[in-house]
Amino acid sequence: MKIAFIGLGNMGGGMAANLVKAGHDVRAFDLSQDALAAAEDAGCATFGSARAACEDAEAVVSMLPNGNIVRDVYRTDVIGQAPAGAVLLDCSTIDVATAREVIATAEEAGYDMVDAPVSGGIAAANGGTLTFMVGGSETAFGRAKPILEAMGKAVIHAGDAGNGQAAKICNNMLLAVQMIGTCEAFSMAEKLGLDPQTFYDISSVSSGQCWSMTSYCPVPGVGPQSPSDNGYQGGFASALMLKDLKLAMEAADSAGAKTALGKHAQEIYEAFAEEHGALDFSGIIKTL
Ligand code: NAD
Repeated sequence: MKIAFIGLGNMGGGMAANLVKAGHDVRAFDLSQDALAAAEDAGCATFGSARAACEDAEAVVSMLPNGNIVRDVYRTDVIGQAPAGAVLLDCSTIDVATAREVIATAEEAGYDMVDAPVSGGIAAANGGTLTFMVGGSETAFGRAKPILEAMGKAVIHAGDAGNGQAAKICNNMLLAVQMIGTCEAFSMAEKLGLDPQTFYDISSVSSGQCWSMTSYCPVPGVGPQSPSDNGYQGGFASALMLKDLKLAMEAADSAGAKTALGKHAQEIYEAFAEEHGALDFSGIIKTL
């Protein structure tokens, strides 16, 4: 397929490269010349504007920083510019309301469109092992699925437009709360005289076990390899976790959902990210 790809940053660069590997003709655009040069090395054709990249596209994929940019790019350069009948896939993490608004505008103009945010970081984007949570009509999902499968290991239909974003922020709010709880438990165990490895051996086979402990342990040298073993470098930056928590709290307010722990998690990540935004989100343990 001829696929326009807009936003070739940390995540989009690897995703576009995987579409090339799957045999697609990828037409790439990014505001950054470095990102464009890397995309060219990966086998993409590069263009001087999003509009030019979309001109003959049968599908458009975007991986952009936030909702305002997604709205602007779709309104100005994609909707009405991509050929009628193209399927549109926004994989960025953005607020539910903007996702629904952009998809409604695209549908009014006759396009099928999905929101398809991802779980998994840069390594999963490069390795083609992302999980996509997809919102949109059955028809749009059916058309988007084979394209997403070339970039991920799981593609799940979450319901109507915006529901992919809803699934993403609910998951990440849970993850943030779970990670803070895991850090508090390890820190308290140590203060009470328990060896961290011994606590891991007990809790990882008891009812407190969770992903933050068994796959991403915040204590260096305990559990499988994780960012804590590398000075909390790499992994999922605290600034990105904070971004997702802000989106989650906005959505909670607008939906009237009670999220006391989600709100507290946002405050904790806000304070941490002020100085350590680039560190992995398990670095919270350093503050305890
Ligand atoms: P990034 O900043 O590395 O990449 C974004 C790219 O978009 C940049 O290359 C930038 O130049 C480009 N861009 C910005 N405005 C543009 C425009 N108007 N037209 C064309 N290109 C434009 O960010 P990233 O880490 O790749 O994240 C992208 C999205 O994926 C975000 O929504 C983020 O929340 C989400 N996400 C990131 C991760 C992660 O681990 N990095 C994980 C899951 C989801």
